[in-house]
Amino acid sequence: MKQTPLSGFSSVCVHAGHEQDPLYAHLTPVYASSTYVYDSAEQGMRRFSGQEEGYIYSRWDSPNFREAEEKIAALEGFGLTDPYGQPLPLKAKLHASGMGALSTLFLAHLKAGDKVITHYSLYGGTEELLRKILPPLGIEAIITDMRDLNKTADIIKADPSIKLMYLETPANPTLRCVDLEALIGIAKAHGLLSAVDNTFATPYLQQPFAFGADYVFHSTTKFLNGHGTAIGGVLIGKDVEMMKGPVEKVHRLLGANSNPFDAFLLTQGIKTLEVRMERHCHNAMEVAGFLDAHPAVAQVNYLGLTHHPDFAIAARQMKHAGATMSFELKDGLEAGKRFIDRLQMCLRAVSLGTCDTLICHPASMTHYSIPKETREQYGITDGLIRVSVGIEAVTDILNDLEQALR
Ligand SMILES: *Cc1c(COP(=O)(O)O)cnc(C)c1O
Repeated sequence: MKQTPLSGFSSVCVHAGHEQDPLYAHLTPVYASSTYVYDSAEQGMRRFSGQEEGYIYSRWDSPNFREAEEKIAALEGFGLTDPYGQPLPLKAKLHASGMGALSTLFLAHLKAGDKVITHYSLYGGTEELLRKILPPLGIEAIITDMRDLNKTADIIKADPSIKLMYLETPANPTLRCVDLEALIGIAKAHGLLSAVDNTFATPYLQQPFAFGADYVFHSTTKFLNGHGTAIGGVLIGKDVEMMKGPVEKVHRLLGANSNPFDAFLLTQGIKTLEVRMERHCHNAMEVAGFLDAHPAVAQVNYLGLTHHPDFAIAARQMKHAGATMSFELKDGLEAGKRFIDRLQMCLRAVSLGTCDTLICHPASMTHYSIPKETREQYGITDGLIRVSVGIEAVTDILNDLEQALR
């Protein structure tokens, strides 16, 4: 496998990262073992000093983590090359959750006095991490409208303590997009590192490394796992030495490690990523068209609709428009609650990226802890409904929405 480069994305989804099991099990078994044994004191010494490859302790590494990490790195780097025309070397580190991976990213790169620049409209947990956990450590976030490129460049020029540009595109739950090529270009021109939350797009729809990003981040809980069976997060970096050094150190000492069973579930889930994303995106386009034409709906935010303000950016940097959308009912909060309560097949739940269609109300759920004024600045109004379109037969999704809107 390692000698023969695979030509198709789906083949990489299925095969990358897999190693033949010594007992010939088809799938890598779940290595439910906290520690690993040595033949001799000599071997233990070689393992600890890094002279010999091998597993030591499951907070650090495990065959199940490694399979998922290599698969994800291969997908984020699919078809990309370094300046010498060689396959882009990437290293991924799996974490207990998306938030765990983000904590590693920030703590490995920022110290007291440093700043992060980011934009309005971020995942609620990321927003809280930046506003509540980092400031007491002396790390400040500058939150601005990064669709304004000149303003962003001016802020960066004026403040040499900004060390990292953090982007989330499309953003959760407003689907706002920012221009990866332009912004990463600005980051590079001023010596900033750049990191992109690629959770909504997945590497099938968008590859931030193609635009020069230094890090890509995923909540694997969503589309990568795809079945809602496990929480997880991954940080992928192109500075392999940095990944093996400071990033790995923070990962180990934070204790934000994944576990073998969740990593096993993730590995199986990723195998169908391309097939699922094609169906997710196709269904989402139909659902968006239906909602857009419905008299009870005031507005639909979907990147595949030409009237979305970020339609052009999304079309440029994404293969399809994704599976997530939000919409506003004409009669606001009360209509929203009534609609959600009437759903029969679609599920009332937060999270996204599962085979089932999940519908939630951000103002009362995911973004509840964010003050109303801040929320509204992010485009999250009281009557906004978020839909993660599943892979069911689209007729059944449309029928359920139709009867709930009646
Ligand atoms: C879910 C999510 C996260 C956080 O990931 P967890 O796995 O829940 O810790 C971060 N960013 C985005 C865009 C998300 O959707």
